[in-house]
Amino acid sequence: METTVKKDIDDNASAVDLILVYAQNQFLATYEYQVLFPTSCLANFTICQYKTLQLGLWNNANIQLVIITKPTDIFMPNTQWLALRPLMLQLDLATFKMLGYASQMANWVNDFQFCSRCSQPIQQNQKLFRMECAHCGYHAYPVVNPCMIVLVTREDEILLARSPHFTTNMYSTLAGFVEVGESIEQCVHREVFEEVGLSINNLRYIASQNWPYPHSLMLGFHASYEKGDIVLQAGEIEDAKWFNIKQLPQLPPKQAISRYLIDLYIAEKLSLAKPTFVS
Ligand SMILES: [Zn+2]
Repeated sequence: METTVKKDIDDNASAVDLILVYAQNQFLATYEYQVLFPTSCLANFTICQYKTLQLGLWNNANIQLVIITKPTDIFMPNTQWLALRPLMLQLDLATFKMLGYASQMANWVNDFQFCSRCSQPIQQNQKLFRMECAHCGYHAYPVVNPCMIVLVTREDEILLARSPHFTTNMYSTLAGFVEVGESIEQCVHREVFEEVGLSINNLRYIASQNWPYPHSLMLGFHASYEKGDIVLQAGEIEDAKWFNIKQLPQLPPKQAISRYLIDLYIAEKLSLAKPTFVS
């Protein structure tokens, strides 16, 4: 099974064509969470305007993304509209990654309709996956924002925190966006100090994960506690605590890199089999 979309559309004319349907950060899905539909479904869209984007080859199918303005523009029986987060909990990782890619491309198409330099309408170059301004020559590529995510540890304890927007009772690792001009290592030290007031050392890169909410690349680390007492950053961190690895709160789902960072450290401390993570 292919786990990433291959952008070799022109060389696969014999592949099956399937469509993904997207509107306002949601995908059309059956009640069995099928998100790919035959192209014949486009007959349902005759009453609304839509944009299309060729995403590439995935599992021997050419995937066409159909972007409509709002979910109520079409009606298809036995379907529902679902955002990426609930879909992440239902789908296998390969399908979730394909949808993550699709949602980022859809947002890019929707958000870059005019040149940000000269304000003229911008054209999509599907071959090169970029927007091109014929007026001033500006090129705009899909956006990826790098972030750090880190598990801070202190022997048999791990530091977990709650953001105000987390689901009830869930705690997770610390995370934050890279700022202009800093390295990823500087970002980890700065974010940890800003969010919980602690100094860390022994920074170790572990893995990365594309995080399509809306277009981040999570770079995951382990770090050791060095000094300081927990001081919560107002408005950002609702709570943060040291948890013994044998008495943990509700954790993020297995599909998220934050959970992998936690499970990997516990496996190392308790000499258990290491978890797998396909990022
Ligand atoms: Zn321009």
